[in-house]
Amino acid sequence: MGIRASKSQTVIGISGGWLWAPRAHRGRAASFFLGLCFLLVPDASAQRTELKPGWNKFSPQEDINLGKRAATDAEKQLPPCNAPKVDAYLTQLGTRLAQKLPTGGVQYPFEFHCVNDKAINAFALPGGYVFVNRGAIEAADDEAQLAGVMAHELSHVALRHGTNQATKAMLAETGLGIFGAVFGDTTGGALLTQLGSFTAGGVLLRYSRTAESQADVMGTQVLYDTGYDPRAMAQFFEKLEAETKGKNPPEFFSDHPNPEHRVGRVDEEVEKLGGVPPNAKRDSAEFEAIKREVLALPVVKKPVPGAPRAVAAPAPPSRNLSEYQASWYALKYPDNWRKYADSSGGGISFAPEGGVVDDGSGHSALAYGLIIGVEQAKGDPNDGNAVNSATQRVIHDLQKSNPSMKITRQGERLRLNGQPGLSTYLSNASPAGGQETDWVITVLRPEGLLYFVCVAPQSAYDNYDKTFSSILDSVRFTR
Ligand SMILES: [Zn+2]
Repeated sequence: MGIRASKSQTVIGISGGWLWAPRAHRGRAASFFLGLCFLLVPDASAQRTELKPGWNKFSPQEDINLGKRAATDAEKQLPPCNAPKVDAYLTQLGTRLAQKLPTGGVQYPFEFHCVNDKAINAFALPGGYVFVNRGAIEAADDEAQLAGVMAHELSHVALRHGTNQATKAMLAETGLGIFGAVFGDTTGGALLTQLGSFTAGGVLLRYSRTAESQADVMGTQVLYDTGYDPRAMAQFFEKLEAETKGKNPPEFFSDHPNPEHRVGRVDEEVEKLGGVPPNAKRDSAEFEAIKREVLALPVVKKPVPGAPRAVAAPAPPSRNLSEYQASWYALKYPDNWRKYADSSGGGISFAPEGGVVDDGSGHSALAYGLIIGVEQAKGDPNDGNAVNSATQRVIHDLQKSNPSMKITRQGERLRLNGQPGLSTYLSNASPAGGQETDWVITVLRPEGLLYFVCVAPQSAYDNYDKTFSSILDSVRFTR
């Protein structure tokens, strides 16, 4: 069922509370007493731009948990370089840079991976999971330029840009449709923390130009503090731009949009740091050896975009049940399913691990599980017409977000906890591939039309039918 959370995937660029305070403005009393010292010994570092992470709903530990899950997914989806020497080199270079990274005291478990992808790109997931494409290593002229790209990525980690973006995305989603209401929160919330799918990583990696500029500035500081030529990062970006003028821009710029005056801003920071140190490091024999090794790696063909992904079927539903208690009804569901709450309080979903998948276009969709929601409706619960017309509205809304959804068995009467209800079967394209069966049960209550949508691929539906029935049998109205 295409539970399209497209709106929630749209990150709205609310430029967010970042601090750009030159350190010199801190502590007036101190500068009063030390003013003379500054005059005698100009301290370049006193002028550097101080950057801090913006407003964030997640804790640094959540960054790590979330990033780890997303990294596990990324590792499954991206071809590795399979070159231990290259990985070791990236780890050694990355660790040196990370040691100079201002993380505000947070210990991130940095990891560095080489990806066998010719596209010039690199990305870092929250918590410090850095992926560098072979293309980026091949495009770098020297070690300082590669260090520049990595310092930029590490700065996104330290500035917690990924979860800051997710926080904004969560804030920005309002007024989604019924399924948006159920799944609207999941991209930034439950799904992100519980599934951490690499798709959810789409939100984590969509940086604003402001974030880019901040990563440039901090990356430049890290280069400087590690002894590299601090201009190297901007020079690499400039080179990428010049080489691709009029052609397809490198992938890097789609994940990391080019901020205005990129090079100018970096040069300004280099000035604040006191200029380029005379002994600044540019290259190493090791980098050149690694680059040669990378250039010789076999090329891995990319999968065709849009091709349906093979999705592993989730584990069968457990026979042990957990209890779920809403304000006016209760039910039991398999204890190996997870609960996905809706932020507005109107709905809830239950799905096994692996039951929520990427529908192939970067959106999260429920392929296995149960969605519960409430449609505004009034009327006598025993009035068949009232139930019918409210049910039609729910199905119409479903079809709006799932254009290939068709009714296969029209509404049949049934009872749910003694209350009259309606059962409708539909078929739809499954995000797991092939067709799916959607069993919709609706009951009119004083609170509105309560609907249950039981979802499973047609090929697996028989294995879920019994589970759906026992969940519905367990429904109790408590008011
Ligand atoms: Zn960036």
